[in-house]
Amino acid sequence: LPVQSSSSDGDAIKVYVRVRPFTQGTGLTTDGDRSLCLAVTSDHTVRLNSKPEPRNFTYDHVADMDTSQESVFSCVAKNIVESCMNGYNGTIFAYGQTGSGKTFTMLGPNELTDFSDELRGVIPRSFEYLFFLISREVEKSAGAKSFLCKCSFIEIYNEQVFDLLDSASASLFLREDIKKGVFVEGAVEKYAASAAEAYQVLSMGWRNRRVASTSMNRESSRSHAVFTMTLESKETGQEVVNIRTSQLNLVDLAGSERQRDTHAEGSRLKEASSINRSLMCLGQVIMALVDVSNGRSRHICYRDSKLTFLLRDSLGGNAKTYIIANVHPGSKCFGETLSTLQFAQRAK
Ligand code: ADP
Ligand code: MG
Repeated sequence: LPVQSSSSDGDAIKVYVRVRPFTQGTGLTTDGDRSLCLAVTSDHTVRLNSKPEPRNFTYDHVADMDTSQESVFSCVAKNIVESCMNGYNGTIFAYGQTGSGKTFTMLGPNELTDFSDELRGVIPRSFEYLFFLISREVEKSAGAKSFLCKCSFIEIYNEQVFDLLDSASASLFLREDIKKGVFVEGAVEKYAASAAEAYQVLSMGWRNRRVASTSMNRESSRSHAVFTMTLESKETGQEVVNIRTSQLNLVDLAGSERQRDTHAEGSRLKEASSINRSLMCLGQVIMALVDVSNGRSRHICYRDSKLTFLLRDSLGGNAKTYIIANVHPGSKCFGETLSTLQFAQRAK
């Protein structure tokens, strides 16, 4: 697979670090300890209070605790949605330990988020912006352009792919096609003609994910959720019809925490190792892409995990990728925060 060096605005992969605030009911126990393990020192830098010396990390953007959802969207997603309108694929990942704010960032404060909520996340805001751009384009073209949006929503758990839009389906296979690229065979695709319709698909999938986590014992913090919007644009000119397809992937990754539970056995152990494996593969693919964009030639092991294989055509080349690395600032989270900052550093 030929991988060209990345598109005009520089980096193959961008990284946004988001520091979450201390709030109640967070699922992360800090035992009332409110001391911090880091400080945001500028829009691009964060200092981790490590021993014996503090360490500084630099990223495309570092967002402190008080950052609004709107600001995360503008910085990370706007540009990717615009490129998607121009025919380029894009992917946004939320990475971090369980409780660090991945779902908050991508979806909103909870699974039942009302999409008029100020706290709605990157995914609903991307829908709104995409459909805003579509209606503007359609209007401008006076009917020459039309767009079609299809949504799919899958979960990758223990290296198995499940359809969140069809809770009854068994695990699905990834296939490869010259025209379509990599796709999930048999996954339901729902058309959406407005942001409101896309929210409905999103909510339905998210509800199914929660149900599966109890009834099928697929714990959602241990799975990757991948929402894919496929955009097809059709432009009718004098004689030719020009059709362009692009994909926007919005990914809430499994918790990156190391499994310290040495008693994990059987299925729990298998789970732990497949999460680590697929996040490790993602890290390796990212590092290889960075090398390629710096002019080195590297083999990129997309096939080593379901996640990287599925996203192959949306990572590297002309695709736009943004990783949102979510961290908790509490001293109690130092170890996981360091490991997330290091993972994010690989992309730089
Ligand atoms: P994760 O998906 O990484 O496990 P969540 O997004 O579920 O973490 O976050 C855990 C809790 O903290 C949730 O109750 C969430 O609403 C809250 N939370 C996370 N980030 C923020 C933030 N930036 N502002 C306010 N609350 C947040
Ligand atoms: Mg979550």
